[in-house]
Order: sequence, then C-alpha cells, then structure tokens
Amino acid sequence: EFEAKVVKLKNSIKNIPDFPKPGILFRDVSSLCQDKDAFALSIDMLYEAFKDEKIDMVVAAEARGFVFGAPLAQRLHAGFAMARKPGKLPRSTLEESYDLEYGTSTLQITEDALQSGQRVLIVDDLLATGGTAEAMIRLCKHFDVEIVCTAFVIELFDLGGAVKIKNDYNIETFSLVEFP
Ligand code: AMP
Repeated sequence: EFEAKVVKLKNSIKNIPDFPKPGILFRDVSSLCQDKDAFALSIDMLYEAFKDEKIDMVVAAEARGFVFGAPLAQRLHAGFAMARKPGKLPRSTLEESYDLEYGTSTLQITEDALQSGQRVLIVDDLLATGGTAEAMIRLCKHFDVEIVCTAFVIELFDLGGAVKIKNDYNIETFSLVEFP
C-alpha cells in the first residue's frame, strides 16, 4: 500500500539530464505538483507521518519548499515560517549560508519566527547534499526549539544528506521518494 503510493509519486517526477548544469540529473518536482492526485498524495503522506508529532511550526525553504511546507503546515494546524533568499523579508532577520549541489546560497528567517519550546518540522522538496537543510537547522538553532525532523518529498541518498544531518546534528530525516 505505502509502496504503491511511493511508486505513484515516483512516476509523476520527470527526470531532466544536465539541468541546471552538465552532470546534474534534475528531479523535477513541478511535474508531481501538476498531477493533482500525486500532489494531494504527497501532502497526505507527509501529514500521516507527522500528524501525531504535535508540530507547532513548519519551517520551509524558498521556493519549492513552500509548495509542500505551507499545505502541510495547514493540515497539521501548525504555523508556517519562511526561510527566504536574502533581501526578501521586511523585518530583522537571522541568516545562514550554505553550499548547494550546484552553487552557494544564503537563507534568512525573521528573527521572531519561532518561539521558545516549539516543536518544529523542517520541510523542503528535495534532499541532495543536505546544505539547504543544514542552513535551516542552523536558522532554527538560533531559537530554543525542538527540531522534530527534516522532511522531504525526494531524497537523493547517494549524496549523503541524511547521514550528514544525523552525524552533524543528530536529527532524523524523512522522505517519501528515494533515488540514488
Ligand atoms: P542540497 O542543499 O544539496 O540538499 O540541495 C537541495 C536543494 O537543491 C533543494 O531545494 C532542491 O530543490 C535543489 N536540488 C538539488 N539537487 C537537485 C536535483 N538533482 N534535482 C532537483 N533539485 C535539486
């Protein structure tokens, strides 16, 4: 049953060779979103995984993390905090920089985004090297919160992001669809 759902999600994801750079096989989550059943299923499955975890806040990364993080937060009746690219947030921010599979970047979060003691779920569309997720973890660590898990629609397990997050931060990862 769970496996059949995973296959349905997997089949909805288009694979684009050499995007955005030669050698990168881009797993395009936009094709999953365009499939109404696959998109609903992805949110349902994330909700099932975390519905009993008493999540207070979902933190997600611009831009594709928002696509899954916001509907999941709403289903969980949690708040939603946006980790955004620099210069987008109008109030005082905290920031963390990180290396990507294909570049370097910075994420910012509003300095009052989280409250002491909250249970936080970190969400993104895809886990590759873990750089983006680690930046979100470090953003959350500016606050006195409990990071429950980092959750993804897609995990590229050969890139070792989950192992790095476990080793460096002792935080678990959860993903719906896994590719090498
Ligand atoms: P990372 O920080 O290395 O874990 O990369 C994760 C972020 O980069 C996610 O927000 C993805 O949207 C994007 N990304 C990295 N590699 C890929 C890939 N092969 N296919 C699609 N998106 C990717």
